[in-house]
Amino acid sequence: MKMDQSLNLKPASLYAKREPVFNRRIDGRFRRLKWAIMVICLAIYWITPWIRWDRGPYAPDQAVLVDLAHRRFYMFGIEIWPHEFYFVAGLLIMAGIGLFLVTSAVGRAWCGYACPQTVWTDLFQHVDRFFDGDRNARFRLYKAPWGPAKIARRLGKWSVYLAISFATGGAWIFYFADAPTLHQVFWSGTAAPVAYGTVFVLTMTTFVLGGFMREQVCIYMCPWPRIQTAMLDEKSLIVTYKDWRGEPRGSVKKAQKNPEAFGDCIDCNQCVAVCPTGIDIREGPQIGCITCALCIDACDRVMSETGRPRGLIDYATLEDSEREKAGQPPTRHLKLIWRPRTVLYFAVWAGIGLGLLFLLGARVHTDLTVAKDRNPPYILMSDGSVRNAYTLRLRNMQGRPRQMEIAIEGLPGAKMWSDDIGMEEAARTLTRTVPADETQSLRAYVVVPAGTASQEFTFNLRAMGEEREQDSAQAQFDTPGVE
Ligand code: SF4
Ligand code: SF4
Repeated sequence: MKMDQSLNLKPASLYAKREPVFNRRIDGRFRRLKWAIMVICLAIYWITPWIRWDRGPYAPDQAVLVDLAHRRFYMFGIEIWPHEFYFVAGLLIMAGIGLFLVTSAVGRAWCGYACPQTVWTDLFQHVDRFFDGDRNARFRLYKAPWGPAKIARRLGKWSVYLAISFATGGAWIFYFADAPTLHQVFWSGTAAPVAYGTVFVLTMTTFVLGGFMREQVCIYMCPWPRIQTAMLDEKSLIVTYKDWRGEPRGSVKKAQKNPEAFGDCIDCNQCVAVCPTGIDIREGPQIGCITCALCIDACDRVMSETGRPRGLIDYATLEDSEREKAGQPPTRHLKLIWRPRTVLYFAVWAGIGLGLLFLLGARVHTDLTVAKDRNPPYILMSDGSVRNAYTLRLRNMQGRPRQMEIAIEGLPGAKMWSDDIGMEEAARTLTRTVPADETQSLRAYVVVPAGTASQEFTFNLRAMGEEREQDSAQAQFDTPGVE
């Protein structure tokens, strides 16, 4: 008999069907903060490519531009060349450490307020409310059978989703080319296929992730909640339901009859109703909580309306929760934010930032690289002298053409010439005009008298004009003579 039962046992399903979330509209200080951050984030995203920045006649006038064709990254007054990629790497490291800093200070504030998935989901939830009404109306419509009215509402709503998604995907490509020009060619149908492809992919991902998958992205797809969970400690601020104050729950009526028997929670479910991920914070900290604090707004309103102190749901640390439970006053928030761990993160973050600023201030706008011909390593000339060939790359990182002088340092008796001047004009220096914001290649043929030994020497590059910046590069000269 036992065996029969065990044979009938089915393994628990690993798939949980999604329960749609119909979160209620709420107003309050955190909702207003979310509005402000949403507007700022969207404005930055959509407006930035249209900001102009005058860099003179030889460089693009778009303030923020990733110019893949010319391999440049422009950000207002800063222009990053490919060989300076460490600036971009430094900024990415700063962004990563900044996230660590924010997480250890105020928990998942990034997830709750500024993550693109949160911002776009929030935007789409407002579209839902505009078309379908607030929580109850949306729920009724969801349950209603398909008919002309429901189809019309759905089509209207999805069209707006699609328009927002298209605007999102469309804005992205403007970061990679001159926005007004690309805008024109895009609508005339003559833009590069990659532009249409990128817009299509980003439109569809925004449409699906923001319009339909929503909180599932945060709960199942995004790795960040897992990483953050590992970074939170007992001193991190998280949204907390103060169960020692709220339990046992009971309605206002019950509590009025027997005040001693009930806590402050009137079990109105408003905190669940407003939650964009549909969770019940009263069940404790959980991965689905993005710490948007809308449940704090909802509960504070309930507490005010029922004449109880606000803060039944609040930002609190695990350590403070224990203190409050024991009847001690909570630690001041500023003290929680300013503690050794956050100070360390801030010091590393600020150190990298200062280092990058220093490098930016000290960078020269001239650069020289040298590559020696390996095959053949040298050529014996008819008079016994020896010739080596090099490819020099002169980089002018200024927004105007500059005259540059290349000189040989060391290598006694050496002279050089190039493809455009003959050997008879060989000298120890060459002069070239390098166009604005460009790299110019130059073949240099260096010749030394017979009997010279193999040795290292230096190419010096000096930009003429006001700044007189310079750079140098070591090179090897090979001869068949004495080593
Ligand atoms: S539980 Fe509260 S803080 Fe967490 S996601 Fe829901 S509403 Fe936001
Ligand atoms: S909103 Fe406040 S009072 Fe209402 S159920 Fe949630 S915690 Fe309890």
